[in-house]
Amino acid sequence: MITSLKKELLKAKKEHYAVPAFNFDNLEMLKGIIAAAEDQKSPVILMVTESAAKYMGIEYVFAFGKKAVETSKVPVILHWDHGFDIDLIKRACDNKFTSVMLDASTKEFNENVKLTQEVVEYAHARGVEVESEIGHVGGKEDDRNSAGGGYTNVDEAFEFNKLTNVDALAIAVGTSHGIFKSAPKLQFEIIKSVVAKIDTPIVLHGSSGVPLEDLQQAIKCGVTKINIGTDLKIKNAQALRQWLNENPDGYDARKFGEAAIEAVKLEAIKKIKAFGSNGKA
Ligand SMILES: [Zn+2]
Repeated sequence: MITSLKKELLKAKKEHYAVPAFNFDNLEMLKGIIAAAEDQKSPVILMVTESAAKYMGIEYVFAFGKKAVETSKVPVILHWDHGFDIDLIKRACDNKFTSVMLDASTKEFNENVKLTQEVVEYAHARGVEVESEIGHVGGKEDDRNSAGGGYTNVDEAFEFNKLTNVDALAIAVGTSHGIFKSAPKLQFEIIKSVVAKIDTPIVLHGSSGVPLEDLQQAIKCGVTKINIGTDLKIKNAQALRQWLNENPDGYDARKFGEAAIEAVKLEAIKKIKAFGSNGKA
C-alpha cells in the first residue's frame, strides 16, 4: 500500500526503530523483499539504483514498482536510489516513485545545494519526496567506485538541510558501500549531534556487513532509514550457486528463482527484526 517516506521515518523516530531500505536487481529480489515485509508486517523501502533500473529496463521497473506498491499488504515506499542523472530522477518522479535520492555528495557544498534544490523543486511539485547526501559515504556505489570523503560535518549538514528542505538526509559516519575488508567503526557521536540539531530523518548508507549491534546502536542514536544492498545480492547469488550445484541437470528458471526469492526473504527478515520494524506496518 502507498505511504510517504517522511511519514514512515518520523513514526520510526518516535517509536525508536528504523525502516529497512532494500535494493532489488531483478524480480526475484523484489518478490523476496515484499514477502519478507508482509511476513513481518513491516513497512519497507523498495529501492532501485540507476544501473539496476537500466539492467531490468526502466519501463519494466516503473511497472513492477507501481504494482508492488499497489498490491502489497504493507506500506511500501518506492525509492530511486543514488540518482546521479537528473533527467532519470525526474522520470522516476513522473512515474509514481514515492521518493528519489540525488547523490551529488562528491560535488562542492554549493553545487550539492544547488542540484538538490533543483530536484526538490521538481519532485515536491509532483508530491514526490527527496533524499540527498551530505558528506560522502563512498565505496562501490551502484557501478561507481569512490573513496569516502571523511565524515559529515555537523554544521554543514545543518546548513545543507536548511537550504534544501529535503525529506531525508544521508550522512557519512564510517560505513562504505559494498563488501568491507574489515568491520567499519561507526561514528555514533556524529549521528547523535546531527539528530540533535536536525529534525529531518537521517539515513545510513553502506550498511551491509555492519554488525547488527552497531546498526541497532545507530538506531538508538536516531537513524531511521538503513540501506541494505550487498547483503541481499550475496544471499541471492549463494542460493543460485547452491541450487545449480545441487541440480547439475536443472534448467527451470522458476525452480532456482524460488530458491533465490526464499534466500532474499530470509535475509530481509533478519534485518527487519534487527531494526525493530516488524509489526509496525
Ligand atoms: Zn548508498
